[in-house]
Amino acid sequence: MDIIFDLIEKERQRQTHGLELIASENFVSENVMKAVGSVLTNKYAEGYPGKRYYGGCEVVDEVETLAINRAKELFGIEYANVQPHSGSQANAAIYLAVLKPGDKIMGMDLSMGGHLTHGSAVNFSGIQYDVVSYGVNRETGLIDYDQMREIALREKPKMLIAGFSAYSRDLDYAKFREVADEIGATLWADIAHPAGLVAKGLLNSPFEHCHVVTTTTHKTLRGPRGGMIMMGKDFENTYGHKTPKGEIKMMSQVLDGSVFPGIQGGPLEHVIAGKAVAFGEALDAQFATYAQQVKDNAQALSKAMIDRGFDIVSGGTDNHLMLVDLRNKGVNGKETEKALVQADITCNKNMVPFDDKSPFTTSGIRLGTAAITTRGLKEKDMDTIAEVISEVVDNIKNEEVLSLVRKKVNELMADKALFNY
Ligand code: PLP
Repeated sequence: MDIIFDLIEKERQRQTHGLELIASENFVSENVMKAVGSVLTNKYAEGYPGKRYYGGCEVVDEVETLAINRAKELFGIEYANVQPHSGSQANAAIYLAVLKPGDKIMGMDLSMGGHLTHGSAVNFSGIQYDVVSYGVNRETGLIDYDQMREIALREKPKMLIAGFSAYSRDLDYAKFREVADEIGATLWADIAHPAGLVAKGLLNSPFEHCHVVTTTTHKTLRGPRGGMIMMGKDFENTYGHKTPKGEIKMMSQVLDGSVFPGIQGGPLEHVIAGKAVAFGEALDAQFATYAQQVKDNAQALSKAMIDRGFDIVSGGTDNHLMLVDLRNKGVNGKETEKALVQADITCNKNMVPFDDKSPFTTSGIRLGTAAITTRGLKEKDMDTIAEVISEVVDNIKNEEVLSLVRKKVNELMADKALFNY
């Protein structure tokens, strides 16, 4: 047997025994796993259902159509493209559809909670486009909408981005839209993180306000790794889009062309099948219970952390994640992430707003509850988790304590199945 399978087993053990607090991760169902590991991986299918450049696509046409229809039903939308290989690919297609290289965009600063693809200097978005950013208020940790408007009116970006990787509060899409309308900008929401909660109505919906919306499918949405582009009710039929070349086209047509042949070749139909399975699961009433529990667990964890003297940016959370500012504990994000791994707890170091440390060190960590909720943990367990994190932070170099904490973590996870639904 190939050594790769020993490594996969090792990874399975790591995932089974550990506490997964990375905010962008989750555990898929056995059915999603089966679809992604299926014979569909063998098939080439450039194009779209009914309009392919290869023969033998009758079955994958049905698979992709099902994925699209389930996505539409799940989010109550008019248009979905399920082909982007990742969240970053979905986002790249938006740039190609809406802008010319050199155009100005405005997103949330990466160090304040934004994503690489929202204009970071090391990403294609920051390399090929002219970037201005907005951020959060130093005192409150909340998006400063007045400052965002002021910058937008002054800089007049062609595209405004509402979305984040590390912001624990809901977004006011109506306000973003007001500003976009004032300057004639396209409004794009990237709901990669909170998509599962948005789908179940537990957070504001971007669809009635934003011209276009992207997501990943593997975070709170609990599907396979991948991306998706969506449009709400108003935009598919009434939004005649002027392409960067000056032609007026339906936005759906422009977006489809931007994904294929714009930035991708053949779609990953095995992953699209996994997306269809996950959307089917998310349509089920059980997923509403799951999404509510993710939110309840995040609030319980945030409170339990605050009770132990931790500083949570913005003082709490509305979604599945929180940013912990560790400066009052005298430790940095890098050493905390490393010590937590020794105790079988995984999370990621993260910059906090107005951080004085580099992205490699950071002053904070980001915690999320999507994965542990899938494993079956409830509010009462959040107190245990805050306690073990606190023990690690207070004993960051004490190997003996770290190994005792690891035992506690392994005991907590011992009866929690990896495939839970
Ligand atoms: N957009 C946001 C807001 C994200 O948080 C992420 C991933 O963390 C992405 C896009 C990119 O997703 P991917 O890692 O699949 O490229």
